[in-house]
Amino acid sequence: MTTGVVVAVFLAAALICVGTAFGSWRRRDVTPAATALAVLLSGAATWAASAGVLHAGMPPVLEQALVVLAYPAKHVMIAATVMLSWAVVDPAWRPRRRTVVGLSIVPVLVTLVAATNPLHGQFFRAIAPTGVYPEVEFGPAFWAHTAYSYALLGYILVRLGREWWRASSIFRKQIGSIILATLLPTGLNAVTLSQRVIFHGVDYTPVFFVFTGALMARALFRQGLLQVVPVARSQVVDTLEDAVLVIDHSGRLVDANTAARSLVRGLRKDLPEEIVGLSADEIFHHEAVRPLLEDNCQRTLELARGLHMDLRSRVHLDDRGHLLARVVTARDVSDLVLADRRLREQLSTIQDLQERLQEDAIRDPLTGLHNRRHLMAVLDAVLATGDQVGLVILDVDHFKSVNDTHGHQTGDDVLVAVAHSLLEGTREGDTVARYGGEEFVVLLPGAGVEATMRRAEQIRARCQATKVPIIVGEDPRTLSVTISAGVAVHPADGADARALVAAADAALYAAKAGGRNRVVCATS
Ligand code: GH3
Ligand code: MG
Ligand code: MG
Repeated sequence: MTTGVVVAVFLAAALICVGTAFGSWRRRDVTPAATALAVLLSGAATWAASAGVLHAGMPPVLEQALVVLAYPAKHVMIAATVMLSWAVVDPAWRPRRRTVVGLSIVPVLVTLVAATNPLHGQFFRAIAPTGVYPEVEFGPAFWAHTAYSYALLGYILVRLGREWWRASSIFRKQIGSIILATLLPTGLNAVTLSQRVIFHGVDYTPVFFVFTGALMARALFRQGLLQVVPVARSQVVDTLEDAVLVIDHSGRLVDANTAARSLVRGLRKDLPEEIVGLSADEIFHHEAVRPLLEDNCQRTLELARGLHMDLRSRVHLDDRGHLLARVVTARDVSDLVLADRRLREQLSTIQDLQERLQEDAIRDPLTGLHNRRHLMAVLDAVLATGDQVGLVILDVDHFKSVNDTHGHQTGDDVLVAVAHSLLEGTREGDTVARYGGEEFVVLLPGAGVEATMRRAEQIRARCQATKVPIIVGEDPRTLSVTISAGVAVHPADGADARALVAAADAALYAAKAGGRNRVVCATS
């Protein structure tokens, strides 16, 4: 190959690298990897251009300067590849000032040492200048620079390789391409150097970066997120029933799926058709939904009549803790809220019913007094305390004749009237129960014989005085009944409930036998 062709190849490669670098730089907003690729290719273009110019022939001073220039260019390329690999394995990665400074230290040192090489010869020493590349002997600074470069290259490959192993197929292609693109110049460099006859000893390594650049650009912009995102959006995000709104760090809505658009449109007729680009303040102007703009929060709100939405906001931060985006999701939970409300209503009805049933189970339906079951339970409980208890059992006198003369209904009315007069005289702690038919029991915890007798006598007198209104023919009249009562007191008249009731019953029998309308005590 003539020198002219070799120069043309290098310069063309430099131009292509500049073009690809420019294209990548323009897409730097997509990913920091685009910036890294632009820097990488700028380095490659500098290297290729300096190689081309060197081949064209230069005065020795300029030639020396160009040879030196290739070293920082190579280091910048390696540093850029490190950052590119970080950006690829972690899309949220952003370059920190510290990282950039850290990665710049060695390139700056190498440039200084290479530039001052004629003074100390620590980098290389020309043995016999022949043609474009003088034969040289490399010094310790050169080997340190080479070791550092290969260490970083090794690190990049390990990092990408590990990520490739973990990644899903679409990202495997992307990472695989970047690994290939990183290995390519190294591999081809070995080929050109080993095939000195074919390549006439010219190091075409900078030219290979044309392919590296193309492969990486394809990986970043065709195989990467740019290609995946539209597919994911149409297949997943837009078909979601949940509304998804993405708000950027400046508080503008940058994305909204179909569900979000129709939700906002339904609620806010005042907003324009296209909501993307509007400020979130404008969209979330309602007091209740404002907290969604503040921090990670969750609340269920009735946004319109019967429309209950479960709203959540999640904050996404980048590597440095800066806000990347706030994602607000809204799910229609109206059915759930309605079902929950119905369930609560049913539960409260059941609870009311249960309470009523429990009450009914211990009450007599006609008089509303406690029934015999409840009385016996209370009596057992009272006796268990060991305290004295007075028990009055009373029976309406000649009640059968009331029924027979005035009818069953009047008989019922009389029973209700007796029940009321019993309740009138009760005190707290007393239990009044319908024991059966026209028999009642009044339980007086703590009462001794005298007290119980006194209360029984009061009851008897009150019953006798009670006038039950009745209709005879068409005339309103009143009816009075009397009662007989038997009194027994625990512990004197009975140790347990059975014995106590039996003693009171016997006293009642005695009261009946003694002429009725009287009180008889078991102990007398
Ligand atoms: P004594 O003075 O000896 O107690 O005579 P009595 O007629 O009251 O007693 P008896 O045991 O002969 O009759 C009781 C009646 O009470 C018989 C029954 O039909 C009536 N009775 C029982 N329960 C009810 C009720 O719930 N309503 C009505 N109307 N009558 C009832
Ligand atoms: Mg009776
Ligand atoms: Mg009776």
